[in-house]
Amino acid sequence: MGVISLLFVPTGFDDIPEIAVPVVRRLLAFVEQRRNGTVGIAQTLPEVHRLGLLRDFRTPTVIEFGARIGLSAAESCEIANLANAVEKVPEVAEQVKKGEISVHGAGILGWAIENKDLVAAKPAGGTDPTSGASSASEGVPDRAAKETVQSLHEAAQTMPARELRDFVDRRIQEIRHDGGPVRPVTLQVAATYCKKFERVRELASQKEGEYVSRDRAFEIALDYYLDHRDSRRRKPRKRRMPVTGAKRTRRVPDEVRRAVLERTDGRCSFPACANRTWVEMAHRVPWRLGGSQEKDNLDGLCSDHHRRVDAGEFRIEGSTEAPVFYDGKGRRIGRNGLPIERGRDRGRGGKSGEDPKGGPAPP
Ligand SMILES: [Zn+2]
Repeated sequence: MGVISLLFVPTGFDDIPEIAVPVVRRLLAFVEQRRNGTVGIAQTLPEVHRLGLLRDFRTPTVIEFGARIGLSAAESCEIANLANAVEKVPEVAEQVKKGEISVHGAGILGWAIENKDLVAAKPAGGTDPTSGASSASEGVPDRAAKETVQSLHEAAQTMPARELRDFVDRRIQEIRHDGGPVRPVTLQVAATYCKKFERVRELASQKEGEYVSRDRAFEIALDYYLDHRDSRRRKPRKRRMPVTGAKRTRRVPDEVRRAVLERTDGRCSFPACANRTWVEMAHRVPWRLGGSQEKDNLDGLCSDHHRRVDAGEFRIEGSTEAPVFYDGKGRRIGRNGLPIERGRDRGRGGKSGEDPKGGPAPP
């Protein structure tokens, strides 16, 4: 998405050599086409969703869908966010087509207006005369939400994407800390520590049950260290990450978990699923039916695939070391995560015997 995020709209051709003008013109025409196309996909997505072809706009479903139509995960996410922006603020569509807002910027807008904390809050510096009691958290005035969306939309039109992202992150932090001062921090650390930080962020996301921002992950890491090492810290903080509190008695032993995750390098074992943040231990034989907590009874599945396997949308065959997935129509899931059409194997003799059990008849 490099070219598209780079908003390249020269006002005239005075500053480039004449010989280059046709090439630049051609380039710009293609960039415009691409913007139009991206907006077109974003506008069609809600329709696809209404037809039930997409569970929701959120990952990983949208990523799977994107893969089917030849989009990368990053493109799919950006388009899903753009779709959200266009749905909530329809004029964004035209603005992106004209290059007034970059696709990336509109994606950030779409992502930001999904943020409940941010949009339920009052706009920066504003007071809301319509809400008498500030304790009334339920039924946040619609007007305040609209104003926030409006101010975000304005920011998207005036700021480069990077700045917009910082602006949004900053607002979220301010809200989280009740309007207290927020400072940007830039750190120079070795790449290995960036990896470690991302790992901390993954673990924190798992604990908190939602993707946490880098800002939040930084806070969590600091609190965690201080809670454990600082004797001056008397009481645990209100927002402290639950460390030992979780009441999970049917815990899968850590070493088993590790062995299961090692098979797929930490990823969900569903073909082509890149999720490594929400990987859960899925039992072949359910625990309540006497299934073991050992690795030969466990597949590492992301929460979405776990749910869908449990719901019977997919079934798993083969050993847990080499699981094979089938969809509801009995079609084997190929390495690209999509069902292999049986017709394709027809005439290749014996190939269909690979799936001896077949599957339930199509509904
Ligand atoms: Zn998955």
